[in-house]
Amino acid sequence: MKKAKRIFTILMALIVFISSMAASDITVKAAEETQETDYKSISEPNWYGGAYSTNNPFAWSNQYYGQCTWYAWGRAYELTGVALNECTGNAAKWYNAAKNAGRSVGSTPKANSIAVFGTSAGYGHVGYVEAVNGDTVTLSESNNSAYGKVTTGYVNSLAEGITYYCGAHNFSSSKLKNRYSGEWLIGYIYLVNDPDPGSLSIYAKTTYYTDEDVTVSWNTPANTASYGFTLRYNPKSGDDLIDHYVTGNSYNIGKLGTGNYRLWMKPYSANGTGGKAVYVDFSVTNRPVTYVTGITLNQSSLSLKVGQTATLTASVQPGNATNKNVTWTSSNSGVVSVSNGTVKAVSVGSATVTAKAADGSGKTASCKVTVTKTHTHQYAAKVTKAATCKEEGIKTYTCSCGSIYTEKIAKTAHKVVKDAAIAATCTTAGRTEGSHCSVCGTVITPTTVIPAKGHTITRTVTVKATTQKDGSITKTCGVCGATEKTAIYRPAQIALAKKSYTYNGQEQKPSVVLWDSKGNQIGTTNYTVAYSNNRNVGRAKITVTLSGNYFGTLTKTFNICPSKTEIVKLTRKSKGFQVKWKKQSNQTSGYEIQYSDNSKFSKNRTKRVDISKKTAVSKDVKKLKAKKKYYVRVRTYKKVKVNGKTTKIYSGWSKVKMVVTK
Ligand SMILES: [Zn+2]
Ligand SMILES: [Zn+2]
Ligand SMILES: [Zn+2]
Repeated sequence: MKKAKRIFTILMALIVFISSMAASDITVKAAEETQETDYKSISEPNWYGGAYSTNNPFAWSNQYYGQCTWYAWGRAYELTGVALNECTGNAAKWYNAAKNAGRSVGSTPKANSIAVFGTSAGYGHVGYVEAVNGDTVTLSESNNSAYGKVTTGYVNSLAEGITYYCGAHNFSSSKLKNRYSGEWLIGYIYLVNDPDPGSLSIYAKTTYYTDEDVTVSWNTPANTASYGFTLRYNPKSGDDLIDHYVTGNSYNIGKLGTGNYRLWMKPYSANGTGGKAVYVDFSVTNRPVTYVTGITLNQSSLSLKVGQTATLTASVQPGNATNKNVTWTSSNSGVVSVSNGTVKAVSVGSATVTAKAADGSGKTASCKVTVTKTHTHQYAAKVTKAATCKEEGIKTYTCSCGSIYTEKIAKTAHKVVKDAAIAATCTTAGRTEGSHCSVCGTVITPTTVIPAKGHTITRTVTVKATTQKDGSITKTCGVCGATEKTAIYRPAQIALAKKSYTYNGQEQKPSVVLWDSKGNQIGTTNYTVAYSNNRNVGRAKITVTLSGNYFGTLTKTFNICPSKTEIVKLTRKSKGFQVKWKKQSNQTSGYEIQYSDNSKFSKNRTKRVDISKKTAVSKDVKKLKAKKKYYVRVRTYKKVKVNGKTTKIYSGWSKVKMVVTK
């Protein structure tokens, strides 16, 4: 129980230490800390890690907590992973113990090394080098009050009466060598491999001018983190103007005075290992002056009236002269004044204006200026361009001295001419009154077109068309008397929807279309249609009675045919054949048989047989050639009276059958 409580109280003390380090650095300063040059924060120790307890041999017996050896061993293990197993005794023994164990040791401070001090008391002291920046060494360490030499940022007394001091401070390497009376630096134990920096080369000009920045650059050698940078004036005996550490690959020293300089640079590794120092020499001089060799003015002489001004321009040779400024003077400022090259005539007379180089070269250029009395212009006016109603004119004023100016002459007014109104008639358009300019044609008052009125028909005479003669419609305008005659063409042709019907006991009424003599269809409102004799087999009649713009009647006939028959049997006979057909008793008077040796029944190769007995259903045809092919067909007919004459109305043909005689 006692052991656990002790560990807890130490940890509590360390927690307070960590949280107050920054503030304590400002507020707590002990008398011995004169060697401190600066404070730098270190990474926070992980007090709860194994480095300060289970791995740390100084923690195993509990009695070394807080001592310098406990802290330095733990810090080394925490940051580098190196377990200093040979360093388990008093601090003063660590250097030789590490050296005998084959570790790298030396007198130069490097980051991640153990600084070992010897003391008259014989115990010694160790601390951990956190960082080296140039000559600044950051050391972190711990000790107890009995040691009495190392002071820290924070002091805490525990219940057991032990006081711990833990902290980190910056020292110069020389101060660290002899830190206190009787406590000298034995050396450093290096924990990490630290290769030497590579070879450094400095790039600088051999000469700089006093009016420019002195900038230098260098290569970035391997294993190099920073550079010692020392600038010395008058290398043999002069002082160091700059002595500090730089990083990067260039540096701007700024402007320097005239003289010879030497710049030393030395590369350092991140752990503080120094490489080979190198230097460059350069000098700083005033920039050489290029003097003016000649000046040219844009005018060598000028004539001015009193009150006039002119501008003189000075060109300086050579173009790269250091100082191109000139100063302007007048030999008689009561006659001619000059300022920055602007010359002003003050009074009648003459004077010389001179431009002189401002660089002390003594070069000049001059211009003679003659000033005469002011002239009073006498202008004569002349119209050089007459004004019109479209364009302004120009009046030109000329003085005998050559001075000239012009004035504009205003445009003249348009010459307005009236455009009389014109009344519209039945057939021609009119217009409203307007006006325009007779000179340029510009419209002053636009006119408006009045459209033609069109005829006013007061009389219409219609002559109806008959079946023989065209008719007409004549319209007369009551205003102008003009007439318009439109023809009504006579009806010329009746077209039927169907021209032939087969008897079916119903009245047949094919629809009618009426055409005039010019091929135009006549509207159905201009006629009526009547049918007669249009049920039984015979010749039906259509009567078209004209009306409206037409007069008279037209007739047209169409056939209603009997029903047709079919051949029911065709029998070959010796030099003949027998044909039997289906009886067709209704609306039939007889039959006609045709036979032919030609399938198309051409007229000169076809014979016909008339069967006038309407009850007959067969016929033997004889006296033909033997073994000959015949085509046979049959149709019905009915005898009817047409216009008093007996006429046969035939049905369509039966299907054709074929027979070969025996
Ligand atoms: Zn004039
Ligand atoms: Zn005009
Ligand atoms: Zn008219």
